[in-house]
Amino acid sequence: MVEPHILVTNDDGVDAPGLQALAEAMLAFGAVDVVAPATNQSACGHKKTLFQDIVVRETRLANGINALAVGGSPADCISLTAMGLRPFPPRLIVSGINRGENMAQDLTYSGTVTAALEGALQAVPAVAFSLASRDAGDVADYAAAARVAQVVVRYVLARRLPPLTILNVNIPTGTPKGIRVTRQGLRIYLDKLVRNGDSVRIEGEPPTGILDEVGTDLWAVHHGYVSVTPIHLDMTAHRLIADVSGWDMEL
Ligand code: MN
Repeated sequence: MVEPHILVTNDDGVDAPGLQALAEAMLAFGAVDVVAPATNQSACGHKKTLFQDIVVRETRLANGINALAVGGSPADCISLTAMGLRPFPPRLIVSGINRGENMAQDLTYSGTVTAALEGALQAVPAVAFSLASRDAGDVADYAAAARVAQVVVRYVLARRLPPLTILNVNIPTGTPKGIRVTRQGLRIYLDKLVRNGDSVRIEGEPPTGILDEVGTDLWAVHHGYVSVTPIHLDMTAHRLIADVSGWDMEL
């Protein structure tokens, strides 16, 4: 029997310490394939590179684990692997551990999460992991989060996930108080347009959000819990179907 292959990717790039910590943690479950973007792809959304050459380079993480560095997006890493870039199809996909949380409306921006969503599109169970710290600079900062990832993965391998779903996991810094299964909360973005000569850029403080609404991802992490949010790729606003039908749009 072929050992189960765990595919590890991220959006912070192949050199990121969170990727290394996650890859090492996954060795507990089987063979590990690391296929990650060559450069930082944070906030790339669900970008797919079509009809363009993508450079793939063999490399090695600082802990000695072999990896492929892909000149594309996190979703490219997943779809290419599902189509045969590596010799064995993955049994599970894990993405992260991202530097910084991915909660509420962040999910549409996050390459960490969209890599997992691409896994769901390819019918492979997938989990996204993010650490709620923007200061995490080396592998040791991700050690506790990597142990949380092991706990979640143990359950996902045993229980599986339904089609077109993923788990989005956000981990607080320090020792978590426990795990809470949550829904997406509401973000408040503080981006600003900054003019610089002929150019413009987006800057501003990190986003905040509604932190006191019990049961959301933002609430859980703010109160020291690991947040596990089941996410579905069906983005239909079911409650709006009746309303919009009532418009009686006609051609
Ligand atoms: Mn990132």
